[in-house]
Amino acid sequence: MNAPDDSDSIDVSESSPRNRINVLLRNHLKRLQSSPTETLLLDGGTGEELFLRGVPDDRKIWSATAIVNARYHSVVEDVHKSFIDAGSQAITTNSYGITPGVGFTDGEEVKRLVGVAGSLARRVVTPPTSSHPVALVLGSLGPQVESYRPDMILKHDDGVRAYQYAVQGLYPYIDVYLAETMSCLEEAVQATDAISKFYTELNDLNESLKHPLLVSFTLDRDGNIRDGEPVVEAVPKLIRYAHDKKVELIGVLFNCCEPESITKALEEIRRDPHMHRHLHHQLMQPCSTQALEDGPPKIYLGAYANKLAPVDPKWTLESSEGAQAMRADLSPEKYWDGFVKQWRNGNAGAEVCDNSNRDGVSGIIGVQLIGGCCGIGPSHISVLKRRLRENNG
Ligand SMILES: [Zn+2]
Repeated sequence: MNAPDDSDSIDVSESSPRNRINVLLRNHLKRLQSSPTETLLLDGGTGEELFLRGVPDDRKIWSATAIVNARYHSVVEDVHKSFIDAGSQAITTNSYGITPGVGFTDGEEVKRLVGVAGSLARRVVTPPTSSHPVALVLGSLGPQVESYRPDMILKHDDGVRAYQYAVQGLYPYIDVYLAETMSCLEEAVQATDAISKFYTELNDLNESLKHPLLVSFTLDRDGNIRDGEPVVEAVPKLIRYAHDKKVELIGVLFNCCEPESITKALEEIRRDPHMHRHLHHQLMQPCSTQALEDGPPKIYLGAYANKLAPVDPKWTLESSEGAQAMRADLSPEKYWDGFVKQWRNGNAGAEVCDNSNRDGVSGIIGVQLIGGCCGIGPSHISVLKRRLRENNG
């Protein structure tokens, strides 16, 4: 696919890594580790917000329109700015839609275009008067073929190759890779492998210059990953896989599904003592006497639901007649009160261990990475910021 106009106006020639330890990221991680009530507030859904601001939704390349056409670059920057003004501590590059699945089959073009998306985000978080960025930049790696479709993912090697172009293009501009809307473990594994290979090729890369990874799964209505695998089975496998591949997986999140599905998945995690060993914080007495110190690497949990009316499991972008309908019952206050508050605080007093041989204990597991996906806008983020502050977040 050829870019139809003047997107070359953005300089994406910067190819060397930012040569410094990522102070902002490490400070946020230190803060999250210090207390389970600390949160990192992410942004909302960039794509839907672009369409609200006049970018045409062509149902073919979706939000990539705003990158391919340079006339919309200022709108992308405005959306990023709006989320930061609302309180987002991290923004996500508008690179989700730049994939072979919608026609971007030339890897070098993918690399260039995701670089444009990365540079727009980096520019917004870098105030001209200060050398300190005002927010983190998460580099979005979306499904390479179609959202919500585990049955349509690329074969392993093809998928890894496709992700590698996006990984390379984003690298100079971001703080963390975000493989999002992953509909099965294999899709997340392909993204992880691409990052691992990229780092292996840059074999002189100092450890401190390797961006860590966040992986976010999209869930079905039962709270399982879209291919039906329970999160308590897939997540430990992913943690081990990333560890073996020397990719620093700092968190697992759930996104672009109904918030009710996320609540179900979190309940499953809460009920599974084996999952607790993988989490930084367990607001409970240990369910198991097993030593936690020499366990696998620990992760943070995160969640960013969408506001879409339930999506048909056989959905595809091109076959959809128009934008997916939004549900009317997910106002900013409702998103906080009905969902985010519970994800963060849990149900104090809930039984968390099923195994009667162990001490049944009461407790909660706090979700610390919070944001929104399609249809969750700056007004939601602003309410979340206020409520999190009131609740010691
Ligand atoms: Zn979404």
